[in-house]
Amino acid sequence: MKFKCALITGASRGIGSSIAEKLAEGGVNVCINYLTSKAKAEALCEKINSKNGGRAFAFKADVSKQKEVAKMCEAAKQKFGGIDILVNNAGVDAVGEFERQSDSETCRVLDVNIKGMMNTCKAVLPGMIEKKYGKIINISSVFGIEGGSFEAVYSASKGAVIAFTKALAKEVGPSGICVNAVAPGYIDTDMNSGVDKKYVKQIIAETPLARIGKPEDVASLVAFLASDEASFITGAVVPVTGG
Ligand code: NAP
Repeated sequence: MKFKCALITGASRGIGSSIAEKLAEGGVNVCINYLTSKAKAEALCEKINSKNGGRAFAFKADVSKQKEVAKMCEAAKQKFGGIDILVNNAGVDAVGEFERQSDSETCRVLDVNIKGMMNTCKAVLPGMIEKKYGKIINISSVFGIEGGSFEAVYSASKGAVIAFTKALAKEVGPSGICVNAVAPGYIDTDMNSGVDKKYVKQIIAETPLARIGKPEDVASLVAFLASDEASFITGAVVPVTGG
């Protein structure tokens, strides 16, 4: 994977930051996208740049805004010569009874989780098609397959990620581009910081591997899908759930 460039959205924290570290360890240059966590994104860049491996730079952009995404992709192109790997990781959650969810909250989830993914794909695909090479990995969720109670809009957005992944894989496969989705179960990040400890215990009890997931569990899978070892895998939805 030497000298390739990856854009990881929402890489300032949680799963995204772990993916950026893992790819950089493998010699991939990484563009660390963030929205509000500037200090964390910059600290991650410093950490990556202090080691051997890929180089890192941070870029602020709201993935739901196409112009901001286009600027970020252009900056990555100037810095590293084009994006070979795109990881659509940025995501937001909304928990609560569906009928009480505000329209603005619903739009935010759909805009970030669906439109954000489409914006980045649109921005990177022309370059990938020209090179006849590309890896796109979209972070869905097990809720996108099974649905999650009190997370109807979030589940719908993650189901859309899966449908988009499968359709785009068919469309761009002949151009040498692989598009896959990853569907994590419960992963220990800020997104779950408000979850009741009793519920976490229950999840662990129901999980065959008897633990919750770590961001690194997802990052390892993403690194594999981004590598040339996975060159005959496309349109797949791979769960990371501990069973
Ligand atoms: P997290 O800890 O809450 O981090 C979310 C990341 O997304 C942050 O880096 C945040 O950036 C970024 N972000 C949010 N809105 C953005 C926007 N409009 N533009 C750019 N970046 C934005 O979440 P996580 O748990 O790591 O989740 C990462 C992905 O995995 C999400 O797609 C999530 O749905 C999915 N997932 C998570 C779990 C889980 O259990 N944690 C399970 C299944 C799937 P700033 O902090 O800079 O604002």
